[in-house]
Amino acid sequence: MHLNLYPVCKKIGISLLDTLFPIRCLSCNAYGQYLCTNCLEHFPRRLRQRCPHCRRATTPCGEVCFSCSGKSSLDGLFAASHYRHPLVATSIHTYKYRFIPALAEPLGTWLAERVLEIDLPLPDVFIPVPLHKRRLRFRGFNQSELLADTLAETLTPGSVLPVLQNCLLRTRYTKPQIKTKVREERLSNLKNAFALAPEMPLGSEAKVRGKTIWLIDDVATTGTTLEECARVLKSAGAKSVFGIVLAR
Ligand SMILES: [Zn+2]
Ligand SMILES: [Zn+2]
Repeated sequence: MHLNLYPVCKKIGISLLDTLFPIRCLSCNAYGQYLCTNCLEHFPRRLRQRCPHCRRATTPCGEVCFSCSGKSSLDGLFAASHYRHPLVATSIHTYKYRFIPALAEPLGTWLAERVLEIDLPLPDVFIPVPLHKRRLRFRGFNQSELLADTLAETLTPGSVLPVLQNCLLRTRYTKPQIKTKVREERLSNLKNAFALAPEMPLGSEAKVRGKTIWLIDDVATTGTTLEECARVLKSAGAKSVFGIVLAR
């Protein structure tokens, strides 16, 4: 467990961490950026996308395959990179668990470039996978929300697509999925963990009904988190829900 200085630094308005630990590239150690332009150019890409339900059939953008259609709330899942690659794992780990929100910029921009390479129609809205408020307080930022913001700014410069931040809530404090070993445990760990925010006057349901939604997360392991979120959004009338993640 690392000590999280980020909320303190944010409050007192100085970049204490930058002073104590000068920024260096996670890959080549060059000073100045967490991921330098050169290393980001060689950041590992996932070349083949698979149906998120059966995880066997290859589909162009990660759409649910023909034989799985109707079996999943998620219409597809695009994963831009491989979590097993050491640089990818280190980057995401540093971002989330060493509390470096500045990594959202290079990672989000890189993700946007990969999304532009595939033939997927842009959504009406982005929804980041929410954190429980306890975890959000601890981390100081939602890694998925910062990625969604960067994606929204990069994909359509000039007319930024909306990022709905407080529409979907994580209502149960759950074990991090990374610590749940068995698939059954992951499933029960997340059952009813998400809900739409009961806000008025413009309800959350009105914001998602009939909408094409991209659910943004940093990592998908089994895809259970995204599937659970998609289930909630679909039952509120969302037209389609497609997961977009940095790595799987
Ligand atoms: Zn580098
Ligand atoms: Zn399938």
